[in-house]
Amino acid sequence: MYLLYFKWVSILIHAFEEFLDWRFMKNVCKNLMRICGLCCFLGALLFTACSEIVGADGDATLPPDANRTIVHKIYPNDMAKNDSAAANLARGIMLVVHPRASYTLSFDVDPSLPAPELQLFRTFEIEGETGRVGFSKVRTLSPTVVNNRYVYKFNCEENKMSIWFTSLGVDGKYYEGDVNNISFTGVGAYSDHFSINLIVVGSMEKTRDGKSVEELSRYMLKMFREKYYGVKIDTLYVRYAHEHPTLGHKYPANKPWVAGKNSDDYFVSELAGWPEDGLRNALNIVLVHSIDDKDIMGFSRLFAGVMGAGKEGSVVIGEHVQRSNVEIELMSSKNIVMTAIHETGHFFGLRHTSATKRDMSQTSILEDGSKIFMSDMSNADDGLTDTPFCKFVQENALYKQAEEHEFVRGDIYYLKRPNHLAKSDLTSCPDLDNVMFPVTVDEDLDVSFTKQQMNLVRSSLMIFPH
Ligand SMILES: [Zn+2]
Repeated sequence: MYLLYFKWVSILIHAFEEFLDWRFMKNVCKNLMRICGLCCFLGALLFTACSEIVGADGDATLPPDANRTIVHKIYPNDMAKNDSAAANLARGIMLVVHPRASYTLSFDVDPSLPAPELQLFRTFEIEGETGRVGFSKVRTLSPTVVNNRYVYKFNCEENKMSIWFTSLGVDGKYYEGDVNNISFTGVGAYSDHFSINLIVVGSMEKTRDGKSVEELSRYMLKMFREKYYGVKIDTLYVRYAHEHPTLGHKYPANKPWVAGKNSDDYFVSELAGWPEDGLRNALNIVLVHSIDDKDIMGFSRLFAGVMGAGKEGSVVIGEHVQRSNVEIELMSSKNIVMTAIHETGHFFGLRHTSATKRDMSQTSILEDGSKIFMSDMSNADDGLTDTPFCKFVQENALYKQAEEHEFVRGDIYYLKRPNHLAKSDLTSCPDLDNVMFPVTVDEDLDVSFTKQQMNLVRSSLMIFPH
């Protein structure tokens, strides 16, 4: 076990940003983001209470470089290039791993140096040391060489989604060779079926087009089944927070629930893992009156990894959007459902087909006040060959704001501002009709997922315990 302390604060912030996608977002308070980041990542770490598997190999341990901040994270089957993760693999990156899944990490052989060993470390929170993380070695792996690539295979014996650290070394020293074309793949042990639990929190009115919650839920199931054609959605349950067997009293049926205002937890995580057969391991979609930030319609974490109970693993959508302090706009059933489908795409690990400036402008402030750039420009494209890339997305003036709000990661979803887009190049983007295009230019456009996106969704679903 190692108690070398990492610059934990920045790791927390990063974890949050990397994972979170705000639909429709323009402004988010920095402090809020930091606090949420803390909750989010501590939540993930608390899950790692599993049996110790310290390597019995007797190998010398090469811990991640304590003089560096670990900010790069890689999750399985992501096809984006992840060049920054590759460059930092030797001195420490984060791998997102799940129970019972088998993983393969590989990269090109650098013929100028001997083959390096990969060491893996489980992370855990240290009791009484808030803001610090410890880690212990899981194992040391030697590569096989296949098609001129180093290939490392391992299984995850955790009992919950976990973060592992890496190091890459030769004779107890960090590997100095080039790590090019990194690939991290995973094969899960769970089914390609899932159910959805639509959790309705607080009072709800009819949608702009007159649908009741029951009608909305039927339409949602129909659209999910149509759009998520590569997996099977068994059932969509509807449960009302005020009827929760133990927590119902906290969520009165006659009051609108504003996420982030009525409680600190934007995700209303305690409602996930509904205590009822069939629902415990469902994908939780939380429907609230609105979200306590301007222009936000929904949000989720990228590769959230949690079906059922868990911190911040839900997809959250609002029936209304706050336009200003006094103006609130009721959404149509199509807007609500398509937002849920887009955010669920992120939940299962899909990136935007073309990254926005916001996606690419993540920085974090370290404990000493200095800034660190955390984005990976090589991930501007999602890496899937059947989703075209549109350079106009990053060039577009609509995203200028991103430079002033570096903690922001999110989408812009224009509904009632067609004039903004009249002269925009975005309308000529070849990925405009993809669900994961970051801007909705025309809400009547029929959007869909490609085959590769659906394969990624399916593989993530089979990795997420459910
Ligand atoms: Zn998005």
